[in-house]
Amino acid sequence: MSTFIPLSSPVCNLVQPQLVNFQGGLRMVDPFFHRKDKVVVIMGATGTGKSRLAIDLATHFFPAEVVNSDKMQVYKGLDIATNKVTEEECRGVPHHLLGIADPDSNFTAADFCLHANMAIDSIVERDRLPIIAGGSNSYIQAMVNDDAEFRLRYECCFLWVDVCLPVLDSFVSERVDRMVEAGLVDEVRQLFDFLSDYTRGIRRAIGVPELDHFLRIEAIADERTKKRLLEAAIARIKMNNCVLARRQLQKIHRLNSMWEWGMHRLDATEVFDKTGEEAEEGWEKLLARSKRIVKDFLQN
Ligand code: ATP
Repeated sequence: MSTFIPLSSPVCNLVQPQLVNFQGGLRMVDPFFHRKDKVVVIMGATGTGKSRLAIDLATHFFPAEVVNSDKMQVYKGLDIATNKVTEEECRGVPHHLLGIADPDSNFTAADFCLHANMAIDSIVERDRLPIIAGGSNSYIQAMVNDDAEFRLRYECCFLWVDVCLPVLDSFVSERVDRMVEAGLVDEVRQLFDFLSDYTRGIRRAIGVPELDHFLRIEAIADERTKKRLLEAAIARIKMNNCVLARRQLQKIHRLNSMWEWGMHRLDATEVFDKTGEEAEEGWEKLLARSKRIVKDFLQN
């Protein structure tokens, strides 16, 4: 399973000899032949700019490819509600695990490990840098802590994009308004079914259960009722996004302190707090710091 990496490759690192528990048995890892490949992992709460950072880093550390770790974006559909990157935003950077799963299936953390490992293997085999980006911390935890194959083969650099919560709250709320303008309600309507099961697949995405009541009665309700229900649904979507951001942030704190992953915290508050040129300058500063961290990681 191990990939041959030229000794001159910038994306590899020598490891000490060790006995590792691999696929049910102990295996000696020979430091001469086994070098850990390098993977960049971008974490952060919803709306903090992980996807943009992943693409900006991928274009800088060319050639690099992005592996999505958002548990709703792995499903086909709901591109607006789940905030998938558009082709234009990708700027030619290949993305993996984006819109690959059947919307009615249950894509588990184990499925993520399997597919992410395959994607990372293929990226590394082509001498490219894998960048995992997304908000689903349980997926990252499953990969990094529970997946022997991943631990055996890869060394990670964790970047954590952080934005102070009140600033993030306003941003995610305004983002919901933009999603509604972009056609969120129509998108969810296409998926709506009177017997919908909101406990599995893409229907768990924020935006779907919240619109259920409105979609159930829109055909029979008067205009005033419809307007009131739609406004209530949108308010719930905003609130649930803010709750999600808090939960994700708590998990990141927990993971970082429990497992000592050595995350590099990047404060992006300035980017969201300001507008126009000042916001761009804030982003460039954050990007420059990220580039330095990744460069050091790749060189060591
Ligand atoms: P949990 O164990 O709580 O599911 P997690 O780390 O596995 O947490 P999160 O990414 O925090 O995964 O997702 C939690 C929930 O947030 C999802 O089940 C879904 O309802 C919602 N969610 C996550 N990502 C999105 C998204 N891109 N669009 C809409 N809803 C999302």
